Amino acid sequence: MSLVPDHITLSEDERALIRAVGKFARNELLPLDRAWDRGEGCVDDILPKLAAMGLMNLVVPTSEGGLGCAYHTYAAIIHELAVSSPATAVTIGVHTQVGDILERFAGESIHSEVLTHWGSADNFAAFCLSEAGAGSDASSARTTAVEVDGGFRITGEKMWVTNGLSARWFLTICKLDDAANKDRFCALLVERDSDGLAIDEIHGKMGIRGSKTAVVNFDNVFVATDRLIGGKDQGLEVALSSLGKSRVGIAAQASGISQACLTEMVSYAREREQFGQTIGKFQAVSNMIADSGVELEASKSLIWRAAVGIDRGEFDRRATSMAKLYASEAANRIAYRAVQVHGGTGYVQECRVEQLYRDARITSIYEGTSEVQRIVIARELAKN
Ligand SMILES: Cc1cc2nc3c(=O)[nH]c(=O)nc-3n(C[C@H](O)[C@H](O)[C@H](O)COP(=O)(O)OP(=O)(O)OC[C@H]3O[C@@H](n4cnc5c(N)ncnc54)[C@H](O)[C@@H]3O)c2cc1C
Repeated sequence: MSLVPDHITLSEDERALIRAVGKFARNELLPLDRAWDRGEGCVDDILPKLAAMGLMNLVVPTSEGGLGCAYHTYAAIIHELAVSSPATAVTIGVHTQVGDILERFAGESIHSEVLTHWGSADNFAAFCLSEAGAGSDASSARTTAVEVDGGFRITGEKMWVTNGLSARWFLTICKLDDAANKDRFCALLVERDSDGLAIDEIHGKMGIRGSKTAVVNFDNVFVATDRLIGGKDQGLEVALSSLGKSRVGIAAQASGISQACLTEMVSYAREREQFGQTIGKFQAVSNMIADSGVELEASKSLIWRAAVGIDRGEFDRRATSMAKLYASEAANRIAYRAVQVHGGTGYVQECRVEQLYRDARITSIYEGTSEVQRIVIARELAKN
């Protein structure tokens, strides 16, 4: 089931794109995602295929060679990907987030040299904000940029970098080390082959194992001035402006996981018999299915509302945080029920809901934890 509400009329191009992505995800990504979860390869192996589908260039405007998707279409695509491969959904989400930042904040040279080729697998991107000591409190980040002749030199370490293992571009938020800009941050676009850059994989993740996560270390890495994204002291603004949008993407990843769990639940409840009848006929089981259906629909509505708000230029932090908070927590509840409906069968790796249960867990942690979303929502409500 699509993220798009029944009463909404999309253009034929939008519908065709969402349908094609859904079909591709079901036919090709699902078996791969199951293999990646077992440790056999990762989504980075199929970047050329994702690029060929246009998935690496979704929101870059058509004038710069992208597909120019509206955010509601983008959210519907992330949902379709996540139904079959939550790992691919976050991979595309982060790459898209960096492209969106460059589109809005980068100078002319980055637009012509980098953004016009954004859809190519060679331009795979990662977003580096979090550090070992700076997660929810991003402003406590200590990775430092010192201004030098012709650019900046970066020293420090970023944690939890999605796409970090294979990315060419690292959009890196750094604290400026000069008296005039004390406690200010800048955003720098660092290229993978820069001297002093070291990348290590983070092993042993609970879920989304097909998406690779890295620690990125910067040892006096030089970045030229034309790779400064936004104003010199605009780094946090650049980062935070993108987080609202990317939260809609994570919410759509969560709703895709919920959708997959619900489908598995319904199907198993129809087949499995106990006490001489299919378990779906027991009210306790059908209640779990009904509650999950309602929570999935509520998630989709909140996501759609937030995405349409972004498209109208009425960017509303409250709406994006509500979508992220609700859809991610619902995905965790729905995945819990999906395992419950499957009984012991749901507790082993062979059963897809076992993986979905683990995959769902991250959605209420990254791009701002549920606790942080509640802070944002309460703060926004207090303004009225
Ligand atoms: C798989 C994965 C991929 C990721 N990808 C990226 C990426 O690509 N780029 C990137 O920059 N980051 C990424 N992250 C980092 C992610 O965004 C952070 O993990 C997240 O923001 C939480 O930060 P933390 O882990 O340091 O937890 P902490 O901030 O230490 O939080 C620990 C707990 O304290 C709570 N807490 C903290 N502050 C408050 C408060 N003020 N009020 C109430 N409760 C609070 C939190 O909600 C949480 O429950 C990724 C993380 C993971 C696990």
